[in-house]
Amino acid sequence: MLDYDGVLTPFSDYPKAAKPSRETLDLLKKLAGDPRNDVVIVSGRDKKTLDEWFGYLCIGLVAEHGVWIKEEKKDWVITRPLNTGWKTKVHSILEGYVDRVPGSFIEEKEYSLAWHYRKADPELASVKAKELTDNLTSLTASIDLQVLQGSKVIEVRNLGVNKGSAATRFYSKEAYDYVMAVGDDRTDEDMFKALPKTACTIKVGMQPSHARYNLRNYKEIQKLLEAIATAGK
Ligand SMILES: [Mg+2]
Repeated sequence: MLDYDGVLTPFSDYPKAAKPSRETLDLLKKLAGDPRNDVVIVSGRDKKTLDEWFGYLCIGLVAEHGVWIKEEKKDWVITRPLNTGWKTKVHSILEGYVDRVPGSFIEEKEYSLAWHYRKADPELASVKAKELTDNLTSLTASIDLQVLQGSKVIEVRNLGVNKGSAATRFYSKEAYDYVMAVGDDRTDEDMFKALPKTACTIKVGMQPSHARYNLRNYKEIQKLLEAIATAGK
């Protein structure tokens, strides 16, 4: 189970720019081509983007941090019905922050809204990010929403779906003898926590985590995955 941004690709200033490289796609193909493996990309991205990038591969996909699930060669299914009535109000709050923090922008997905500030002045952005988190947390306490602080992004989404519930669905499909999960973000902690203690969970980056292991960056992950892909051949 592999997160995408920061794991299979270096972190990019614009989400759209972080397209998978030829090497990454070949690597996934190699991993998925081994009948002993099942590969799942567990991402926060929308399903359209994941389809464009990975739709042709024989792998499982998770979009919007667990809202949508696509098993190998099947259609997308929503994991549980969600309402989106909150989006208009939250969107207008985020717009206020886009105006005040140059370089920041809103990303809209079906069941979440994200405010990105990768390209903004780091000092101003971190002050405003804190303020926005407080604003949103008090607003969303009464609604069924969750505010998530990721890497240079604040995301608001419906409560109760996360990468953990999605990972569990894939994990319980079969009696797997080895499970590996890799992620770099706070949203990946849900996945690390949901998997059994015996799973090989890897955090990319050296921050404390529920994962059992840490690797420094996506390059080290690439090396590890290459080694797995070529092992036993
Ligand atoms: Mg990530």
